[in-house]
Amino acid sequence: MMTRDDCVARDKADKLSSLRDQFDLPDGVIYLDGNSLGARPKVALSRVQQVVNDEWGKDLIRSWNKAGWFDLPSRLGDKLATLIGANPNEVVVTDSTSINLFKTLAAALHKQSRAEGRSQRHVIVTERANFPTDVYIAQGLTSWLDSGYEIRMIDSPDQLNAAIDEDTAVVMLTHVNYRTGHMHDMREVSTLAHARGALMLWDLAHSAGAVPVNLNADGADYAVGCTYKYLNGGPGSPAFIWVAAQHQKDFRQPLSGWWSHASPFAMQPQFEATGGIRRALCGTQPIASLAMVECGLDIFAQTSMAALREKSLALTDLFIDLVESRCRVHPLELVTPREHAHRGSQVSFAHPHGYPVMQALISRGVIGDYREPHIMRFGFTPLYTRFIDVWDAVDILVDILDNKRYDPAALRDAVT
Ligand SMILES: *Cc1c(COP(=O)(O)O)cnc(C)c1O
Repeated sequence: MMTRDDCVARDKADKLSSLRDQFDLPDGVIYLDGNSLGARPKVALSRVQQVVNDEWGKDLIRSWNKAGWFDLPSRLGDKLATLIGANPNEVVVTDSTSINLFKTLAAALHKQSRAEGRSQRHVIVTERANFPTDVYIAQGLTSWLDSGYEIRMIDSPDQLNAAIDEDTAVVMLTHVNYRTGHMHDMREVSTLAHARGALMLWDLAHSAGAVPVNLNADGADYAVGCTYKYLNGGPGSPAFIWVAAQHQKDFRQPLSGWWSHASPFAMQPQFEATGGIRRALCGTQPIASLAMVECGLDIFAQTSMAALREKSLALTDLFIDLVESRCRVHPLELVTPREHAHRGSQVSFAHPHGYPVMQALISRGVIGDYREPHIMRFGFTPLYTRFIDVWDAVDILVDILDNKRYDPAALRDAVT
């Protein structure tokens, strides 16, 4: 049986432990919600001050060139590419995940509608348990197009084989499920989609910076993802969009704003898409927010996703073991897959009083979050989470459950 001292020893032996010093984490907080909003890299404060004070304040409009503002979506995209198995010039950081889903899904449907002999493909396959915005965007786009598209929702991954057929235009899945932490086999599903002639669109919101991703090697076509979760870009920081090199030439997205024009400053009345991934852009970007994304990416550059994955699995294994052994008498049910191959970097447990128990944890400084129905979600960010944090969090959970230190009638906040 593991002890607290064993956890101290594991932290001492941990080669990644010094990375934690690069984050600002408040005293008395065990932060297990980096899957929702990553912690703040210390340098983000001075970086944003530099943007506001020097680049904006002193250099004014000249900063679009001098400070590289105009290139920022591509420069960040190239840094992010290494974390998701993509090449330079395949990724831009821009807009939100929801908007990027709209652009990629529209581009994929357009490509299929133009492909010879594929005009019958009218189905988008996705999961009912997908993050709601992904499904809403698909619903919004297809109902707006009003041309017979249908959304086919599966209820479990083993239904994919039957759901993807010769009518399928696009398979749109979230790689790691936000609620359960279940991870799809990217290569297997992408291969299946291609075998049936469908295009594969992945949402990496809970994957980028959380698990190793190999978009090119695993044969994906399009991907989007979030930078404010595991990538620590700051609240509402811009998302990213990846288009496989072979699809960039005919990548046609409907938000054809001037930033995706071949010569934006020629001020031509006629739209003409630029080459490469910048055609995924739309308009002027939030520079202060983009600048902060770089602070998080620069920390990832000091390690590897393989090393982070090893620690992430050790942390989630430890959390599962401790909760299951120490909370045996309580009605907790592990929702996250036990198999490493299907586990992201979070652990979810269902409990009939999940919401009040999570509120009690938060009031004791253990910050996770809650998702309907009954699910307590704990994110483990290997950049700054220690083994001792796992021990102490479980210790507090045990106290709350054993001594019923929660209010079953706790009222819901707007954000859970
Ligand atoms: C967090 C998350 C989003 C967020 O989308 P926004 O446009 O940033 O609000 C989208 N999809 C998934 C799967 C997510 O986990």
